[in-house]
Amino acid sequence: MWSFRAWRRRRFLARHPLDPKLWERVRQHLAILDGLSDDELRLLGERARLFLRDKHLSALPGVELDDFRRLLLATQAELLLLHLPDLNWYQGFHELVLYPDDFVSPQKHRDPAGVIHEFDDERAGETSLQGPVILAWPGVENGGGWDAYNLVIHELAHKLDMLNGDANGLPPLHRDMRVSDWAAAMQSAYDQMNRQLDRNPQAHTVIDPYAAENPAEFFAVTSEYFFTAPDLLHTTYPKVYEQLALFYRQDPLSRLHKLQREHPEYQETQAH
Ligand SMILES: [Zn+2]
Repeated sequence: MWSFRAWRRRRFLARHPLDPKLWERVRQHLAILDGLSDDELRLLGERARLFLRDKHLSALPGVELDDFRRLLLATQAELLLLHLPDLNWYQGFHELVLYPDDFVSPQKHRDPAGVIHEFDDERAGETSLQGPVILAWPGVENGGGWDAYNLVIHELAHKLDMLNGDANGLPPLHRDMRVSDWAAAMQSAYDQMNRQLDRNPQAHTVIDPYAAENPAEFFAVTSEYFFTAPDLLHTTYPKVYEQLALFYRQDPLSRLHKLQREHPEYQETQAH
């Protein structure tokens, strides 16, 4: 069936081809793309250009947004959606605001006793239901390795979570998935992590303890690990890895294992 949207997309891509030198720089910068097939990389390059067509990037003073940086951001954003069926998963926002550094965000929190606490929180990214995605540029630039950190993936996972309402750790699942399987996997890992931290708040957890804040952060943080430290996530919470693999329809763990088998430099790649 002929589709106007698909036609416009093809026309846009034909008129705005990927600059091979720029793409090579992006690929060099983003080790987490290693091991993707040629088809996947081509698709990712297309999606990244469409992302830049559809989203508005606003840079605050101190952020120099050149073509390389724009593509670097868009490529990380589209890695989450690489195998998701349509292009509309980021419908919930139009703008990304880039700060030159971590920023202070006023927070309000109501504790179980009903007392309201107000405080300033320093953070690298922020996502709200209606608002733009806010990212501190150093976090965008420093993500990209297999090192359990990726600000873009973290914040955009929140946006996926918010597609069906509040951020609660439950994004819209595919038809071949079951909410009960998702909830069981996520809840038991989340509870386990919280028990560990309740016993000892200084406990060394394999997954960043920020995940224990609430189910939304658990989904965002484990999504980061899924794409950038899949071995750690799989070893710690195999069922969470399994559900995320069903949701993102990707298997970064087998990609990483293949890289570790075939490339000596990957044998030392271990997240801290
Ligand atoms: Zn978060």
